[in-house]
Amino acid sequence: MTFEDRDVSDELAKFRERFLFDSSGINYMDGNSLGRLTRAGREALYNAVEKEWQDTLIHGWDSWMHLGREVGSTIGTALLGAAEGQLVVSDSTSVNLYKLILAGLSLHPERDVVLVDEQEFPTDRYLIQGIAARNGLEVRIVRSGINDALSVDDISPHLDGRVALGVFSHVNYRSGGLVDLKAIGDALHGVEALLIADLSHSVGAVPVALDDDDVDLAVGCTYKYLNGGPGSPAFLYVRSPLQRRIDQPMWGWFSQHDQFEMGPSYRAKDSIEKFLVGTPPVLQLAALKGATSVVVEAGIEAIRRKSVALTALTIELFDEKLSATQLKLASPREADLRGGHVTFAHPQALEIARRLFVEERVLVDYRTPNRFRFAPSPLYTRFCDVEAGMEAVARVTRTIES
Ligand SMILES: *Cc1c(COP(=O)(O)O)cnc(C)c1O
Repeated sequence: MTFEDRDVSDELAKFRERFLFDSSGINYMDGNSLGRLTRAGREALYNAVEKEWQDTLIHGWDSWMHLGREVGSTIGTALLGAAEGQLVVSDSTSVNLYKLILAGLSLHPERDVVLVDEQEFPTDRYLIQGIAARNGLEVRIVRSGINDALSVDDISPHLDGRVALGVFSHVNYRSGGLVDLKAIGDALHGVEALLIADLSHSVGAVPVALDDDDVDLAVGCTYKYLNGGPGSPAFLYVRSPLQRRIDQPMWGWFSQHDQFEMGPSYRAKDSIEKFLVGTPPVLQLAALKGATSVVVEAGIEAIRRKSVALTALTIELFDEKLSATQLKLASPREADLRGGHVTFAHPQALEIARRLFVEERVLVDYRTPNRFRFAPSPLYTRFCDVEAGMEAVARVTRTIES
């Protein structure tokens, strides 16, 4: 089958039209950092500006008030396997993680150890370091491989009755390694510790089963595979039974039991809205609502099928065209250990990424040390784009090495 045939028989081919493309025709392999603009997202944003803000003014809050919960519940039920009432969209992933780490710690105040992977995304590690420094906690560094997915064997040696919680990504931002959340959660639960999952690189690309996998708490970005736009707010998940048992550290008026009582003291809501803080970014939420509807309509199972086919093709083309070069695969080869992107390592990775953009109009992103990520986002990337992109990687790599 040619690449054109694969595009013709692609069950998601028609979703490409739902996106708006730059006029310069960039072959965009960075949708895991910032997803493209959807027509639905743009329309929802314009509508929120021109119809809602301009025309309804303060009365807009009648509906804006519930947007975070509404979008959260769509993301939760359609994409993350979470029953109603456990997800809400608010703040950034970093801020949500800060709230949930402190909330998680409140469950077992006598415990003083937190776990994090050495390969974890920087903001996650820094938040843990900062919280540990202020609260006199010990951070235990789990060591998974830089090219791999974290496994239970990596965390087991660190587990004991002092561990309060562990923060782990579902898909590693660098290697693309896909973690078995159920297995990691079971291991943590074995010592009565909590799992906080970061779903930033999986939501919208890989199916997640938060309820079935017994994940306790989770956060994730919406500007990556959900295409919510730069700075679109993040989601947070708190498993129902935990909502009353853990304390949210930021007592803002949006989490106050009766927000407009304006009374002297604070009493937290007993729903997922307990984890809100202040006024939400309404325009960004409106854009996100539009963008999310496209992902939900496509369906996460079909998205994952195409994503696996695109990354498998990427690796196949790497084997065919680049095995004699110094470029090395820096992601798991097995499809079920891999998320939505493929990473390559090369001593001159930064220069390869630069030339790919300048000379070939292929946009990948460089990551330390000596790597670049190739992310064919399934709703708008064609098989022929992967083929053209890997041809370009081969040309640039051979030129640099010659
Ligand atoms: C992208 C990403 C973030 C980003 O957090 P922000 O608060 O949105 O800047 C955090 N964690 C992970 C794992 C990510 O991939």
